[in-house]
Amino acid sequence: MPFTLPDSPDTLTAATWADIAPYYEALATAEVEPGEVDAWVRTWSRLEELVEEAGTLALIAYTIDTTDPAKEEANLRWSSEIFPKALEWQVRLAKRLLDFGYAQPGLEPALRNFRTDIEIFREENVPVFSKLEELVSAYQKITGGLDVEWDGVKKTIPQLQPYMKDRDRSVRERAFRLGAAAYIAHRDELSAIFDQMYELRQQVARNAGFSDYQTYVFPAKHRFDYTPADCASFHDAVERTVAPAVERLMTYRRERLGLDTLRPWDTQIELDTTRPVKPFDNLAGFVEPAKRIFDALDPELGRQFRRMDAEKLLDLESRQGKAPGGYCTTLSWRGVPFIFMNAVGVPDDVNTLVHESGHAFHDFAAHAQPLIWQRHVGHEAAELASMSMELLVTPHLAKPTGYYQPDEARVAQVEQLEDILVSLAHIASVDAFQRWIYTSGQGGNAAARDAAWLDIRARFERGVDWSGLEPERIARWHRQLHIFEYPFYYIEYGIAQLGALQIWRESLRDPVAAVVRYREALALGATTTLPAIYQAAGVRLVFDAAGMAELVALVEQRIAELRAGA
Ligand SMILES: [Zn+2]
Repeated sequence: MPFTLPDSPDTLTAATWADIAPYYEALATAEVEPGEVDAWVRTWSRLEELVEEAGTLALIAYTIDTTDPAKEEANLRWSSEIFPKALEWQVRLAKRLLDFGYAQPGLEPALRNFRTDIEIFREENVPVFSKLEELVSAYQKITGGLDVEWDGVKKTIPQLQPYMKDRDRSVRERAFRLGAAAYIAHRDELSAIFDQMYELRQQVARNAGFSDYQTYVFPAKHRFDYTPADCASFHDAVERTVAPAVERLMTYRRERLGLDTLRPWDTQIELDTTRPVKPFDNLAGFVEPAKRIFDALDPELGRQFRRMDAEKLLDLESRQGKAPGGYCTTLSWRGVPFIFMNAVGVPDDVNTLVHESGHAFHDFAAHAQPLIWQRHVGHEAAELASMSMELLVTPHLAKPTGYYQPDEARVAQVEQLEDILVSLAHIASVDAFQRWIYTSGQGGNAAARDAAWLDIRARFERGVDWSGLEPERIARWHRQLHIFEYPFYYIEYGIAQLGALQIWRESLRDPVAAVVRYREALALGATTTLPAIYQAAGVRLVFDAAGMAELVALVEQRIAELRAGA
């Protein structure tokens, strides 16, 4: 099976599908003797590295300079033409791999994913998925175009966010009502889009032989290590442990603010500081403390971060022409990560960099695995790496190592821990709601859907007075793009957050050992099951109230200590 691949992805970035197709065709048709299967698999993996990295380079080039039409065109060619075509060939090659009967330690999860994808694939679902894509575009078109007028100036909904922290309560209320009103005005259109999505998704499931979309989604998302019943248990556990803790946080907040009732526009104002914390004011002031923080945490992680800086694998500061947002991606062929973000000098930038660095450390660790499919982990493991990192760095965030004065570091950590509890309650809402949508038989009824959301919200989100604000509360789920665009993709964050809290708990006892186990878990890549990855980190998947109660108690205790100045 003589076969020559390109020398490097750099020669492929300008490629069209016609340049790449011959490599896939050759792998699909090559005569492969029994003794050559291993070489065939390695060649295929190497091709995927090259193709993936070339497309990633095109994405990076575009997102750091969206004003260059050639870069835009190249990125679009990769995302809309080359990657979808490559995916079709990947399915064919996966079938071939399974036909070879190829097995290797550490490849079992990938083989199971391949087998499942092939089993649930239905030709008649292809046009249904296209229709769903069109509906996603329709949703994005409406929500992406929403703007409001604020003191005579047009603003997007996210641009109202800073006003939710304003000291003036009437300003906060105005910002809250204005943001919700934009969604309320489109309620009927958004409901109509979702009605169609609901029908099409149930049809996808039935075509593939499943009773409903929830049952279909577990194999489709390669969730083999937990079930819909586990998720229902997660909801119950959040209701019993997290929701009361959030209610206590809200009571504390109400008393500190001196209010009779806490309204939705009172939940984001900072309690412990009135001055805006500015963690850094130039790029060096952002990157240098990060180097020291990771050095302090673990010398090898420090080296990896310094290497990213030295090799220009960080593009961090906000600049004219950059795409919004932030991400960490992998250059699969070289085996190095790349972090992109838009830092402007606020505490959130520190959180984002630390979070994305957790993903980057995962990429470094997993690259030692020989085959590309042994490195691509699911979100439950990926977010364990990033969310744990957010907690592991907390002892190092104060100066002289980090960014903050000691009291600022305490305030930042209280906010981080409060956010964790509030997010867990929100995650339970979003997941329980989707379970109701796809299994109650009434998910296609817009009025029943909104009523179910209000019930579920009342179950998980306590301590805030929403009376008279039912339309605003309903608007919250219309705003949750995952429900429209990535159904059932959300609980992964909850699972990973509970894993991260366990790693943090261990780090409070033995910081060095906790990081050692964290790195061991990351190095497994995708070679084993999710419970085994968590076990390597010294933690477990938590869906039960007893396990959750311990972690919630720890978070509340730490918040109390930090508030007391410890
Ligand atoms: Zn992440």
